[in-house]
Amino acid sequence: MKPDVYFSRIKKGQDRSDCFKSLLEKISTPLRDFKKGSFVGIKITIGEKQNKGHIKPEFVKILCDKLKKQGAKPFVFDTNVIYKGERQNAVDHLNLAYGKGFTIDKLGCPFIVADGVFGTDSKNIKVNYSHIKELRVPSFVGVLDDLIVLSHITGHLMSGYAGSVKNAGMGMASRAGKQAQHSSLKPAINSEHCTMCGCCIEICPVSAISEVKGKAFINSKICVGCGECISACKFDAVNINWHEDVNIFLERMAEYADGILSRIKRKVFINFAFDITEECDCLAGDDPKIIEDMGIFASRDILAVDKACFDILTKGKDVFSRGKKAKPYLHQFKYAEKIGLGKLDYNLIEV
Ligand code: SF4
Ligand code: SF4
Repeated sequence: MKPDVYFSRIKKGQDRSDCFKSLLEKISTPLRDFKKGSFVGIKITIGEKQNKGHIKPEFVKILCDKLKKQGAKPFVFDTNVIYKGERQNAVDHLNLAYGKGFTIDKLGCPFIVADGVFGTDSKNIKVNYSHIKELRVPSFVGVLDDLIVLSHITGHLMSGYAGSVKNAGMGMASRAGKQAQHSSLKPAINSEHCTMCGCCIEICPVSAISEVKGKAFINSKICVGCGECISACKFDAVNINWHEDVNIFLERMAEYADGILSRIKRKVFINFAFDITEECDCLAGDDPKIIEDMGIFASRDILAVDKACFDILTKGKDVFSRGKKAKPYLHQFKYAEKIGLGKLDYNLIEV
C-alpha cells in the first residue's frame, strides 16, 4: 500500500503559520499516535549563525502546544556537527540556539544537544548494512519510542537535495557517526586553481591540509571527508569525486537513517519547502531562493515525504543538480528504498 503524504500548499498572502496549522489539522490522526506521558523527540536543525532559512521556533511551538494538549512530553533536539562553527559543541550550540529564539518560552519545550558537550555522549549499536556495521548515536536511540523530524528542504553540496533522510541519517548521528558517514569523501586539490589563500587549511577540523610546494595538499589518510574545504575554497580548487564517493556517502546516510528509525516505534516526518537555497542551512546565509515557496509536507514514511516534496518542487525540471551530470539524490532515493527505509510511491493528499 502506498503511504499517504499530506501537502499544505502555501496560498498567496497566506501566513506560513496558518499553512502549518492547516497541515496539523489534517494529520491529527498520525499525531494522535503520540500518547499521554510519552517523550516525543522533535528533530530540528537551527542552521549556522549566518543562516536565515532554518525552521523558526514559532512553528515548533505550534506543534509542541498540540502535543502537550494530548499529554505528551515533547523536547526539541539536534546533535553536534563535525565541521568548525558554532554547533561543534553543546555550549556554543546552545548559545547559538538561544540567540536564534530556540528558548523554552518560545518553543514551549526544552532544546537539547543530544550527543552532549563535545559530541561524544553516544552509544554504539551493531547493525549489518553493506557499509555501516555499527551506529554511533545519542543514547536515547533504542529507548525513545516517539519522533517527529522537522526538516527544511534545501539543496546540498554532496547530495544535491536534502530533506528528512539527511536530517535523520546525518542529523541524528553523533559526531563520530557523522565522520563514519563522510569517510569515503576524499576531496583533492586542483593545483592550477589553488591560490594558496589558506582558507581550507584554516577550516579543516582535523588538520589534513598543508602547504606543499606553494599549493594546498590534502593528506587523505587524515581527511575525514567532512567537505568543509570544498565550501571554504573561493577558487573552485577543491574537487570531490562525484561519481563514486558521493554515492557511497549517500548509501551510508540512508543506512544510518534506517538503523536509527527502525528502532523508533512512532514517527512523523514534516518537510518545510520555504526559502529553498542551493546550500543547506549549515552553509547558506540569506542566499537567494532557487525555487519558489511551495508549502509543507508530512507523512509517516520518510522516503515518501522526501520524494513527494522533490517531485512537486522540481516538476520534472533539473533544479538540484547544480548543472552537473551526476544526480546523486536519484541514487539515494533508489538505494534508500532498496534497503527498506521507505517507499518512493505515495498517495498525495492536498490539504
Ligand atoms: S581554499 Fe582553495 S585556493 Fe585557498 S589554499 Fe585552499 S585550495 Fe587553495
Ligand atoms: S581535507 Fe577537507 S574534507 Fe578532509 S577533513 Fe579537511 S576539510 Fe574535511
